[in-house]
Formats: sequence, C-alpha cells, structure tokens
Amino acid sequence: MGQKIAIIGGSIAGTMAAILLSRAGHSVDVFERSRKGLVGRGGGVTTSRRVLNEMKAADILDENFPSMPYSELQLSKVTDATQQFGHCPLSVPLDMRCVHWSGMWENMRRRLPDDIYHNDMQLLTADHDGDSVRMTFADSDARHADIVLFADGYHSLGRRIMFPEVDLEYRGYTVWRGVVPESQIEQVDQLAVHPRFSLRNQKGSFISYMIPSREGSEQVGDRLFNWACYFPLAQSELADFMVDKDGVSRVGTIPAGYMRAEQDDALKSMIRDNLPKYYADIVCSSTDNQIQQIYTSDLPAYRKGRMCLMGDAGIMVPPLTGAGVFKGFTNARDLTRGLATDAPLDDILSDWSAQQTKVAVSMLNMGLDMEDAFIWNTIDLATHSPQDCAAWFDKSINIAKEFSYFAA
Ligand SMILES: Cc1cc2nc3c(=O)[nH]c(=O)nc-3n(C[C@H](O)[C@H](O)[C@H](O)COP(=O)(O)OP(=O)(O)OC[C@H]3O[C@@H](n4cnc5c(N)ncnc54)[C@H](O)[C@@H]3O)c2cc1C
Repeated sequence: MGQKIAIIGGSIAGTMAAILLSRAGHSVDVFERSRKGLVGRGGGVTTSRRVLNEMKAADILDENFPSMPYSELQLSKVTDATQQFGHCPLSVPLDMRCVHWSGMWENMRRRLPDDIYHNDMQLLTADHDGDSVRMTFADSDARHADIVLFADGYHSLGRRIMFPEVDLEYRGYTVWRGVVPESQIEQVDQLAVHPRFSLRNQKGSFISYMIPSREGSEQVGDRLFNWACYFPLAQSELADFMVDKDGVSRVGTIPAGYMRAEQDDALKSMIRDNLPKYYADIVCSSTDNQIQQIYTSDLPAYRKGRMCLMGDAGIMVPPLTGAGVFKGFTNARDLTRGLATDAPLDDILSDWSAQQTKVAVSMLNMGLDMEDAFIWNTIDLATHSPQDCAAWFDKSINIAKEFSYFAA
C-alpha cells in the first residue's frame, strides 16, 4: 500500500527521494523552506561514473546530462623549479565525473510536478502522533504523514529532533571556493588536468576541475573552472571569520558574493605564496567566492520511529570523499526498494536504517583517512620519490568498497 510521505528539504537528496517514491506510487509532498529555486551550493560537485550512470538509468537525470570526466588525480606541489604548473610525483587513477550543482538539481527538479513541491515551507517541529508524524510549519496548520524523511541538510532539524545528543563536529578546517569562466583563462590545455596541490608553506590543499556550464554546455570556452582551497582555521577564530560583508555573523557558510573583500584578498595573498603561478593567477581573478566550514557527524541509526534521515541530514562525511550525491541517491533508492516489499513497515525502516548507517560509516572512515592524508599529514610531494609517494598514498587511504571516485 502506498505511504503518505513528507520530505523536508527539496535539494539534491530530497528531490531524488521525491522522484523515486512518487513514481513507486506513494503520496509524496516536498516541503522546502527556500522561497524559490535553489541556486549554487558551490559550483561543482564530483561523483563517480557508476553513480551518474545509475542515476540516469533510474531516470533521475536525463540520459545526456553533461559531466566532465577525469581519469587521473595528480598529487602535486609547487617547487622552485616548477613555479608555473608545479611538480607531480604521483598520479592516481580515477573514474570521476564532475557536474554543475545547480544544473544537476534543475535537471532532476523538472521531474517533479509543482503541486507536490512546496516552496516557502519551513518546518518548525515534528513529533510522533501514534503511528504517524505531526509536523508544524512556519505559516500553516499542523500536517500529518505516515513517514517523514528529513533531507534538510548538514544542519538538519530532523537530526536534532531524532538524536538531540549528537552534535556536529567542526573539523578544524574550512573551504574557500569559487568558479571562473573558462573564457577568462589562458593556456586552457592545462585544464585537462585534475590536480590536488598540497600547500607549499602550510597545512591544507587545493583542487580544481572543470564543470559544464549551468545550461549544460561541455564546449571548450563555455565551461567553468571550479576550485576549492581547504585550509586550517581554529575553532576559536570561527566567530570573527564568519562575519560577512554586511556585518552579519554566519553559521556554516558565507554564500557566494557575501565574503568581506579584505578576507577574500587575504586568502588570495595566501594562495600566491602556496600554489603554482598558473593556478594562483586564476584564483586571484575569481570573484563572488564562498566559505564553507567542514563538519562531520556520527549517528547510531538513520531512523527513529517513522522519521528517517536522508543525504547530508544523516551522517556527515568530509567533502573530500565526493560522496554527497552517492549517499543521497542510495538512501532514496534503497528506501524505495524496501517499501516495495510486503514486509511490515517497521522492519523495512529498520533494515533500511541499518544498511544506510553501515554505508555512511564506511564513507566517514574513508573521509577521515582522506582528511589526514590531504589536509594534515601529506607527504612532502616536492622532495619524495614517486615510489615513496605511492607507498604513502596506499598506506594512508583505505578506499571504501561501496563508493569512491577512484578507479577500481
Ligand atoms: C565544500 C563542499 C564540497 C562538496 N563537494 C561534494 C562533491 O564533490 N561531491 C558530492 O557528491 N558532494 C559534495 N558535497 C556535499 C553536497 O554538497 C551535498 O551532499 C549535496 O548538496 C546534497 O545535500 P542534501 O540534499 O542532503 O542537503 P542540502 O543541499 O544542504 O539541502 C538541504 C535542503 O533542506 C532545506 N531545509 C533546511 N532546513 C529546512 C526546514 N526546517 N524546513 C524546510 N526545508 C529545510 C534547505 O533549504 C535545503 O534546500 C560537498 C559539500 C561541501 C560543503
């Protein structure tokens, strides 16, 4: 029998769940607090070719949805002798695809009729009422659903309701990121490379990759250069750092266009000292950049009663894993499959929760390895031999069997 399902949050995870569950015959409503469409959660995201293909096969994305493929990660560092492009002692095989975040969300969202996707609906409370869940929203009466899926992101209200004892853990580093139109960049041949540079004079690292334009063009000249710099920032400095250009104290994110000019300039000066000139020049031309603090959370389960967690509302893993799209997709796909069986609802949700928790813990463990390897304790790529670097990489990162963007 079809369930009445409320999904809180209509971003990547919520939209995927709504598509699959409504197609499977459930009565689905998405409640999204944004007044209109979602834009730019930070330019590009990466995932694996396999996940993107599975999403296309499930008709969550168009068959011809564009992505940029990368088959190699170049681990590099600038040296005196390699000031322009840096020195790369180690290449790791990838099976990675890079996509435009907004382009992907817009492509999915077209599959949902407007009468089940409700904007301007911020959930305020949720609690169990017998076998159903009662919800209240900012400006409407209480509603009920058989199952509530919280797809409300890393600062999830649902997670706080279900697991009030679990706090987000700030990881001690932050991301500064942006996009630059390819049309502004010279020597575009270098853009075929997907590097991860360790910073020359401090902890942290920098990555870049190309993504198609938001409209879906993969043509050279139309694409976007997506970059991100991960740098240490002590918890004690966060309060001062997170003040935006209007003097507003932000939590978690300073959105594109809201950074203070002197803050952006200070980071650009840091990048000049730490990256090859080619990449530093591009970053220094980048405008409307943004800040995201990095958090993780660990959880004992993905379900309590008739409440479930999806995507970043569940176990938060370091973004270095590129696992956000995978987690949201598998949460939604597995729940849809479970609900198609004849088992009692409580058994279905318990089995689903156990499986999602197991996979997310595996992602978290890989993410913690990557954090150690790519942020805190990178081998000195400028001085070590390719053999030493390969041994260090193999020893440092335990690649999860469920998902990674590395080639199998
Ligand atoms: C620096 C960085 C880099 C990343 N890189 C990658 C990558 O390369 N690959 C990858 O797969 N993932 C990446 N991620 C993660 C990825 O961005 C997320 O996993 C992805 O956006 C899916 O998130 P989501 O739908 O679970 O939540 P979100 O995108 O955070 O959406 C949550 C939604 O819930 C809504 N909402 C919140 N509270 C309420 C409420 N009370 N009522 C109603 N609505 C509410 C919000 O408005 C929002 O639309 C990265 C993340 C970061 C921070």
